[in-house]
Amino acid sequence: ENYSKSEILQMVEEEDVEFIRLQFTDMFGVLKNVAIPSSRLIKAMENRCTIDTASLDGFTGEEENDLYLKPDLSTFSILPWRPQQGKVARFLCDVCREDGTEIEDSPRSILKKVVKKAQEKGYTLRVNPECEFFLFHTDDNGMPTTLTHEKAGYLDTSPIDLGENTRRDIILTLEEMGYEIDSSHHEISPAQHEIDFTYENATETADKIMTFKMAVRTIAKRYGLHATFMPKPRAEVNGSGMHLNMRLMKDGKNVFKGEDGTLSAEGEAFLAGILHHIQGMTAVMNPLVNSYKRLVPGFEAPSEVTWSRTQRNALVHVRKERGGEVNLELRSPDSASNPYLVFALCLAAGMEGIENGMKTPEELTKDIRKLNEEEKNLLGIQMLPENLGEAIQAMGQDPLVFEVLGETYRKGYMKAKRKEWKDYLAQVSEWELNRYLYRV
Ligand code: GLU
Ligand code: MG
Ligand code: MG
Repeated sequence: ENYSKSEILQMVEEEDVEFIRLQFTDMFGVLKNVAIPSSRLIKAMENRCTIDTASLDGFTGEEENDLYLKPDLSTFSILPWRPQQGKVARFLCDVCREDGTEIEDSPRSILKKVVKKAQEKGYTLRVNPECEFFLFHTDDNGMPTTLTHEKAGYLDTSPIDLGENTRRDIILTLEEMGYEIDSSHHEISPAQHEIDFTYENATETADKIMTFKMAVRTIAKRYGLHATFMPKPRAEVNGSGMHLNMRLMKDGKNVFKGEDGTLSAEGEAFLAGILHHIQGMTAVMNPLVNSYKRLVPGFEAPSEVTWSRTQRNALVHVRKERGGEVNLELRSPDSASNPYLVFALCLAAGMEGIENGMKTPEELTKDIRKLNEEEKNLLGIQMLPENLGEAIQAMGQDPLVFEVLGETYRKGYMKAKRKEWKDYLAQVSEWELNRYLYRV
């Protein structure tokens, strides 16, 4: 909601709010915050609260270390899991310089810029994410494990589903914060859950994902569980994705929906844009070494660049819904990604597709797992990057990613990710020891 400053002051007074958290998202999608007593609220609303960015990632492009937080008043929200007396509220903030201009290198500003550009042409991206996560046990020292004694699978009910109450509490909490939840269910792997939002404009959805992850972790902890959005915590079962259902609106209508109720020509062009840039965007959508352990055959996550109306496991599944809506479901992203950057790239790539009238590659009409290499080659099917190293390389070759993220940001991101990949390559794993120590 679009609150005015005086409405905020009134709510803080009436609701007995004692602390305000000024939150923002860093380059890698981590939510950060500073807390201020509510007596400092006016100062905060005048954008006068500062952060020292010297020890934060992603601010290398700025001359000054001290930057200002500019609360987005529409994101005011009371955190229901904090004490009910002397409550805690939060704002999501943009990051500004002393002169009040927003820094270009903040993920939220990057998304807002792409959103604005699309809006000038009349288009609005709406996104509905499907966030998957695990609820694991903690050990005697309170450290997270990958253990569970739950054995439930897809859509199971209690008493097999042991996460039922935690999920219920998470959803009630989110609703209290103004979320509209579409549905939730037990996912395929033991202890894996999914909560689906409804469609909202890209920036709101990205804001909501950030708060969602914090809420899920916090509530799970209350139940003695460790919630994790790690893409592939256990090798032998499905990992956790963040499928993105997208619609593109123009003049109040979903442009993906064609005259005949199938994917429109504009929708196809948007899809073509995404497929064209998918390799370059993957390092952002799947940002961890671990992300690529999810994107392997056999676990319902995509590993090839495909699209299909009939094959739900394709990278992009064109979904027709009852009531005649048509959505694109992009199935590769995971929840370790920075949603602001992911949406910015998807929208920019799709818009490029529309502007250039791009054509999709051939549609996948068969189960990809039943095609052999030769058949895949005949269809011209490409692979997604197979590891973080390949993804970074592809990112460096995509001019659209440069354009959207900006040069300093892209460089900083790639440098950090390259280091992560090099660090990983230098590890000696359990798998290697098991495999080689006794034999070689
Ligand atoms: N967990 C699967 C993934 O890694 C997706 C399962 C589903 O279709 O919901 O993307
Ligand atoms: Mg799912
Ligand atoms: Mg899905």
